Amino acid sequence: MRALTLVADRKIELAERPPPPPPAASEVQIRIRAVALNHIDVWGWRGMAFAKRSYPLVVGAEAAGEIAAVGRDVTSMKVGDPVVMYGAMTCGECRACREGRDNLCEDVKGIMGFHVDGFARDLLNLPARLVIPVPPGVEMRHAACAPIAFSTVQHMLFDNARLEPGESVLVHAGGSGIGTAAIQMAKAIGCTVITTVGDDAKAEKARALGADYVINYKSERFEHLVRKITKKKGVDVVFEHVGADTFNGSLLALKRGGRLVTCGSTSGPTATINLMQLFQQQYRIVGSFGASMRNIRESLAKMAQGLTPVIDTEAPLAEFERGLAKLESRQAFGKIVVTF
Ligand SMILES: [Zn+2]
Repeated sequence: MRALTLVADRKIELAERPPPPPPAASEVQIRIRAVALNHIDVWGWRGMAFAKRSYPLVVGAEAAGEIAAVGRDVTSMKVGDPVVMYGAMTCGECRACREGRDNLCEDVKGIMGFHVDGFARDLLNLPARLVIPVPPGVEMRHAACAPIAFSTVQHMLFDNARLEPGESVLVHAGGSGIGTAAIQMAKAIGCTVITTVGDDAKAEKARALGADYVINYKSERFEHLVRKITKKKGVDVVFEHVGADTFNGSLLALKRGGRLVTCGSTSGPTATINLMQLFQQQYRIVGSFGASMRNIRESLAKMAQGLTPVIDTEAPLAEFERGLAKLESRQAFGKIVVTF
């Protein structure tokens, strides 16, 4: 079978690997149909000195497929069912896992495609508990964006920032995979959305997606404009994932008592916080990583109701590396998906 493997930093090869054995009693075998790319794939591709992993490594952290075979004890799924898979190899036994909060697993073996072999291969076996059925009517290329992109946003906005209908939210990098999803999800519940983008073409697309205000962060100071738009009050929620370049501006864009939720630091990992500002303004700053099993089901349910991911590019498997380069250079608006 085919497997896309990272053999060295910035070097991915399409390799032949033996297919997996029949699934064990509690496992299912999945035929992969679509893999969606994320920034974690870009980091993995560039190479990270401190990450515990070894080459060759099958890439792909987020995917959808069909059940190809089921283990003896699996009754919840049958051959042919469309499914998505959790993006990390969690233990299934700790308290967090038993409660479906696998992103807090105490004994996680690693992120798929980053620490351990990922999804960019024809077939793989997984414990059935890490596999989530896709509801009818959801296309494979859309479902492939559920386990990481959509679920991360669902977890950030609703579990962590507790975004309510009618509130205002600043979404950074509105053209990114998670940025586009955040705009859609916040608009779907009637929020006012302000977003930042890096060029005018993306500004147009962000408006078309429903953003009420779009700021080109390269030509304007976003924190000033947010205060102007909100009549000096600031927004209820900031959706952060840019990091060093925007973090302090994001705090200045918050309303007193506002919530900042962050899941990334693509521009750098370090920021300095004014503690007086933190407590006087009564900010809540929440770190968010990954998602719960419930968030994946919630994301798929939204897709079934018509809230589908923005797909920038759909390309064959062999284009995976070109997709990473496009993601890295910020030329995409929405998700890049490779199909089998
Ligand atoms: Zn666990």
